[in-house]
Amino acid sequence: MDYPTLGEPIHKPLTELEVKLEANRCLNCYDAPCMNACPTHIDVASFIGKIATGNLKGSARVILDANAMGASCARVCPTEELCEGACVYKKDDSPIRIGDLQRYAIDWVMDNDVEIFTPGPSSGKHVAIIGGGPAGLSAARDLRRFGHAVTIFDSNDQLGGLNTYGIVPFRLSAEVAIWEAQQVVKLGANVVTNAHVGRDITLASLLKDFDAVVLACGMGRVPKLAIPGEELGGVLDALDFIERAKLGKDVGNLGKHVAVIGAGNTAIDALTCAKRLGAEHVTMYYRRGEAEMTAYEFEYDFAKMEGIEFRFFCAPKRIIGENGRVSAVEFIRTELVAAGEGVLESLMHVPKTIQGSEFIEPADTIISAIGQSRLLDTFAELGIRTREGVVDVDESLQTSRHGVFAAGDCIFEKGTREAMVVEAAEQGKVAARSVDAYLNDPSLRHGSGQAPA
Ligand SMILES: Cc1cc2nc3c(=O)[nH]c(=O)nc-3n(C[C@H](O)[C@H](O)[C@H](O)COP(=O)(O)OP(=O)(O)OC[C@H]3O[C@@H](n4cnc5c(N)ncnc54)[C@H](O)[C@@H]3O)c2cc1C
Ligand code: SF4
Repeated sequence: MDYPTLGEPIHKPLTELEVKLEANRCLNCYDAPCMNACPTHIDVASFIGKIATGNLKGSARVILDANAMGASCARVCPTEELCEGACVYKKDDSPIRIGDLQRYAIDWVMDNDVEIFTPGPSSGKHVAIIGGGPAGLSAARDLRRFGHAVTIFDSNDQLGGLNTYGIVPFRLSAEVAIWEAQQVVKLGANVVTNAHVGRDITLASLLKDFDAVVLACGMGRVPKLAIPGEELGGVLDALDFIERAKLGKDVGNLGKHVAVIGAGNTAIDALTCAKRLGAEHVTMYYRRGEAEMTAYEFEYDFAKMEGIEFRFFCAPKRIIGENGRVSAVEFIRTELVAAGEGVLESLMHVPKTIQGSEFIEPADTIISAIGQSRLLDTFAELGIRTREGVVDVDESLQTSRHGVFAAGDCIFEKGTREAMVVEAAEQGKVAARSVDAYLNDPSLRHGSGQAPA
């Protein structure tokens, strides 16, 4: 099936000449700062060297061995903050285009339908994976390479998680996300879609029927704004909006003025998506300042280039409607004040509203992009211990229940940066190794049921 592209992709593939020039610039640094800066520790110099000598299969193998999500990461990694940010050429402001070279090698695999890995000899063990997003797929891929049978349960009708449903198509197309998931299926992973664990299937039954479980269910939907008027027509949830746009479903008439509330990468994706769908004035509203935005600088620059408008230090107070549909939003100005002790450095200043500073902005559509809530009900149903909504894991990524491991956004703790596909891929890899050790070492499997707090 062809999915909408919503205009030009942000990154175009390199030309053959660019590939040659970029690949031959690599200095093969002995301390490999790029490799250390990549959360999956891809041997960057090795894969670039193989591209330079025309060994594309070898190059792809190096990338995919370390990172099962190499195709999507090549497109969505904030490389300026990771591998390219650490490149020694960065001081001249022209780091090697590592992400684009990675894409070149994996696109070759995709275009030529090349098989890189085969499943390991059967271990006779069977692992259940809850969630088929980047973390679950990465765990499933490596567990198959270890020879364990794997069944992925996902509540959606397609695999890929936010790669398929959440990240805008001009950054990552659904086709690439689905191809990447198919590589795991080709290795022999069983897939049960439209299956919500906790509702359609219990964790107790998974623990009975499988030797281990990996929880990779991500985060939840966008929380409510919790202001009057939210029930009006034209008030949308950013994830729902992006998903509809990405999969070619009707998003309704956005009108002339679109207001997006929030300043993370979900907000940037919703803003740029609305603009590309034809809304004339698309404005981001944020209760903190430019310096506190959690979106990366390159995302902010991209949004500016797309013609997005920005209003800082204001919070929505109520949504105003006409004939059951939003027509305007009342905002109140904010200022940052010192927070109490014991908070993260990035949250040391909290926004406080300034009484009497209300103002009204026109809006035909409001898109809420104030982050994602945690799947607290699911964790409670699964009987898994959490801390502030984050699944509690030990160093091996085992949760409070023996034999249940967790990876990806469900263990992402809010800090200075946004959750990333590459981190989810790495955690899936670590969880697979831990599950393999657990399945192969009877002493690790002694406990059962709930681990002590
Ligand atoms: C709008 C947006 C833009 C983003 N842009 C970028 C970007 O540019 N670069 C980047 O690196 N990262 C980006 N991210 C973050 C990135 O998408 C996530 O960090 C990553 O997808 C996390 O992977 P995951 O597998 O943990 O979770 P998810 O991708 O959320 O996958 C979880 C899966 O679990 C399934 N599931 C949930 N509950 C259950 C259940 N009870 N039973 C069965 N299945 C269940 C879901 O259907 C889903 O398929 C973005 C995120 C968003 C929301
Ligand atoms: S996975 Fe991402 S961070 Fe790692 S080398 Fe590739 S583009 Fe860079």
